[in-house]
Amino acid sequence: MDSQHSEIRKDYRTGYYSIIVPGRDHRPKELQIDDKGAENLKDCPFEPNTVDRINLEIMHVNEPWTTMVIKNKFPELEGFTPLEYENGFFTSISGYGYNEVLIESPRHFDKFENMDAEKSLEWFNTLIEREEALYSRNYIKHVMIFKNYGASGGASIGHPHTQIIAWPEILGTPATEIENAKKHLKENASCLYEDAIKKEQSRMLFETEKIAAIAPYGSRFAGESMILTKRHVNYIMELSRDEKKEIVEGLKKIIQVNKKLFGEQSYNFVIHENKVETDYHMHIEVYPRLSDLAGIELGQNVFVNTMVPEGYVKRFGEEAALV
Ligand SMILES: [Zn+2]
Ligand SMILES: [Zn+2]
Repeated sequence: MDSQHSEIRKDYRTGYYSIIVPGRDHRPKELQIDDKGAENLKDCPFEPNTVDRINLEIMHVNEPWTTMVIKNKFPELEGFTPLEYENGFFTSISGYGYNEVLIESPRHFDKFENMDAEKSLEWFNTLIEREEALYSRNYIKHVMIFKNYGASGGASIGHPHTQIIAWPEILGTPATEIENAKKHLKENASCLYEDAIKKEQSRMLFETEKIAAIAPYGSRFAGESMILTKRHVNYIMELSRDEKKEIVEGLKKIIQVNKKLFGEQSYNFVIHENKVETDYHMHIEVYPRLSDLAGIELGQNVFVNTMVPEGYVKRFGEEAALV
């Protein structure tokens, strides 16, 4: 690896991949999620008067902008890196790909879960538009949308934002999930995720006409949940307007109720789907970050979840009735 570019390296012990990124000394400092100080604003790179539109802007919606997509100033993967593979004892892929950031609002203290229905659809449609654009680029095989919220969720900037990362290969959890979905399809002639909706009735957080939200049986995190469409959809571009609407409303509801249940907390959500892997079924996973990862999680990749999913469902139902 040269000292300029990142590299996706496979760990010969586990088969897991890591992005090795050089020179990250100049990343913005952590901002506290509950820090309302005006001093945050002058350091915030996503304000209408600070965002580097000349060098970073990819697109914006409305004038003046209400949603903006920019290049990540500190990307893990970059499109000008030649795509190279190395196979052998040391296996790696060069750090080819794209990182983009969607700034959800020009207002620093807006909250994702408080966006109105129209703004939420603007958020989702902009992400879908960017995904479609990224999939059309050379060698891109997978795009993941995710949100880091709060310091324990890995956010380095307090301003509301969502991230997009485009990969030259499908790696990690989505690869495992696709493999499991294919195996399930082969053995049962049915979609793993549609079967999950049928079988997880006792762990159903809520259902609407088009979507279901469940606390998965084998959840890794206390308060973990998953939203998925009832119809088989592997790629979010294929979602109908009603499905999109019910997904974003459901996602906001989960974050609102979790806030009531657990207080102000860091969280992550990730959108799992793929444009070409038609056996995959789109779903959004939400992880409240109530405790740090400890030795058993890091050392064994076995998670300790101190809240039974069934108990979470019960508490969610009680709290949701009050929201
Ligand atoms: Zn800001
Ligand atoms: Zn399906």
